[in-house]
Amino acid sequence: MTDISRRALLGSAAVIAAATGLPAAPASASTGSTAAGAASGARWPAPAAWRSLDSQVGGRLIRTQLPWVNATPETFELLKNPFWNEEQPGALQSTGWYKAWTAVASPYAVRAQSTADIVAAVNFARDNDVKLVVKGTGHDYLGRNCAPRSLLVWTHDMRTITLHDAFLPKGAPAGTTPVEAMTVEAGTRWLEAYKAATDAGRFVAGGGCTSVGACGGFTFGSGFGPFSKRYGTGSGGIVQAEIVTADGKVHVVNEFSEPDLFFAVRGGGGSTYGIVSRVTLLMHPIPSTVGIITGSVTASSDAAYRELIQRFCEFYPVGLDNWHWGESVAFGPDNELGFRLTFLDMPEAEGRAVLEQFVGPLRERPEDFTVAPSIDFLDFKNLWNPEFWDEHDPDFITRDPRPGAPEHQFWWTGNQGELGSYWSGYQSRWIQTEDLRIRPAEIADAFFDASRLRSFIFQVNKGLSGEHEEARARDEQTALNPQCFGASALVLMGAAQQYRYPGVRGKEPSVPLARELADTVNDAMDIIKRATPGAGSYSTEADFFLEDWQEAQWGSNYARLLRIKRRYDPRNFFRVHHGVGSEQRKQ
Ligand SMILES: Cc1cc2nc3c(=O)[nH]c(=O)nc-3n(C[C@H](O)[C@H](O)[C@H](O)COP(=O)(O)OP(=O)(O)OC[C@H]3O[C@@H](n4cnc5c(N)ncnc54)[C@H](O)[C@@H]3O)c2cc1C
Repeated sequence: MTDISRRALLGSAAVIAAATGLPAAPASASTGSTAAGAASGARWPAPAAWRSLDSQVGGRLIRTQLPWVNATPETFELLKNPFWNEEQPGALQSTGWYKAWTAVASPYAVRAQSTADIVAAVNFARDNDVKLVVKGTGHDYLGRNCAPRSLLVWTHDMRTITLHDAFLPKGAPAGTTPVEAMTVEAGTRWLEAYKAATDAGRFVAGGGCTSVGACGGFTFGSGFGPFSKRYGTGSGGIVQAEIVTADGKVHVVNEFSEPDLFFAVRGGGGSTYGIVSRVTLLMHPIPSTVGIITGSVTASSDAAYRELIQRFCEFYPVGLDNWHWGESVAFGPDNELGFRLTFLDMPEAEGRAVLEQFVGPLRERPEDFTVAPSIDFLDFKNLWNPEFWDEHDPDFITRDPRPGAPEHQFWWTGNQGELGSYWSGYQSRWIQTEDLRIRPAEIADAFFDASRLRSFIFQVNKGLSGEHEEARARDEQTALNPQCFGASALVLMGAAQQYRYPGVRGKEPSVPLARELADTVNDAMDIIKRATPGAGSYSTEADFFLEDWQEAQWGSNYARLLRIKRRYDPRNFFRVHHGVGSEQRKQ
């Protein structure tokens, strides 16, 4: 466990150094203490070494700092905009995690514009024993995109998208069928990829949040979007990747060329095997329609709520366990079951009929249940079209309000709650469909008891039971924890203080509140854990303090991932919290 106060102190030292000019070393380096590659006792590189790196990367070695340090009220407003945030080299979407990590800026960043820039940064960091970190969008919950006294590779400028009508992976044997695909550079966000695909009448399988990266932690850590049960995970969609490994070599990997490294990239985690400069993703014909169910069922008593939860547990295997369904339902102390479900390529009447199977009997008992779901049904091509939402339901999205921001740039209003978060906990657990079938009462008991303490969501698109067979065939080739294939959903529970910035007077997170929230999440998730022994956890949305993290995150794939890690990164140069190989120190 990282000592939070120590990290905060190192963080502020890095920021002070960042303000003093390009050749300056961080304060503690000038006193002779060791740099981020502290294990080997290396010293912080001399100014001449930094200048040399700067010239190798075309003058794109920049200084960074946390944007909330010495910030104006206007800056704190801008920090509420995820896209503004991503334009700041030193910004992160989360500001820390109680007793785990605190946001910190690297003194220097390479503002990468090409694979060659990434190679130069990797070679420099390795040869000078400087910790290297990589950031695309800065969405990571576990702080694996920042480190004190490090060199940052910031990929935000690399956002070129290329569409291919007939893509053949490098080295594909004669007779290989070409596929429709999209190559995105490392800094691309999902909204940009979706727009490019939709404009071409195509679909690419990515994440729910518009500002998450299409070539980063999401895609290399499996990555689940609203339609994962139909199209599979982000990792499953990778056809080819270009990756810079610790020795500075550029590898183009696919199923024919270095298949082991390709396997590791597809689910083995970000920042673990190297830095990916571009990735080619499978495209699909665009779906026709999507239905969105919102609203809720509210129970009038605890007993009725307990019954409602069991009814839902019994309903999932018969009503929702197929590829049409996605997104989530929410449970909480207010005795409400909140809908945020999607149904893809299913006629509206059919979607309504499935929902009715669940809510119909409840509607007949108004003394126990208030039933208020609502359904939107749209042409799929409108899903990422802000003009459609402006007309249809303007509050569903937040457009980037800045003058000059790209017209299509928006985020789901529901994602606002995660920005500027200082976490007390964020935990996940896969729930097997078989458990819902065989022992729904036991699972319902656990969900009910946990819901007394804290709200959580049951996210059906993050479990792959019911997955379309064509997507399943791809996902089975990835490093995803195989437990996910039998899972109806991923239970996700988090707690954070929003717009709290460690070290900023008046905006500090409250420590007593952080402790209280952490205890609540632990207590609530412990109840669900006891009811689901041995269940796995999704690696990019896992508890920082996860025990047995290798097995929990990758299951039977861990041993192979570790072998690949040792082959391609024998000195453990790329090492992130609970990443493959991180149980060993840097060599
Ligand atoms: C608001 C919000 C919504 C989310 N929604 C979803 C969702 O719908 N589905 C889902 O599955 N997850 C979701 N997530 C989780 C998300 O997938 C992870 O936070 C993921 O790590 C983000 O990756 P990124 O590249 O965008 O972020 P970053 O913070 O930039 O990077 C995350 C990790 O990947 C590494 N990395 C970044 N770029 C590269 C690269 N080019 N090569 C190698 N490593 C790299 C970083 O070093 C870091 O370790 C969400 C997170 C947030 C905050």
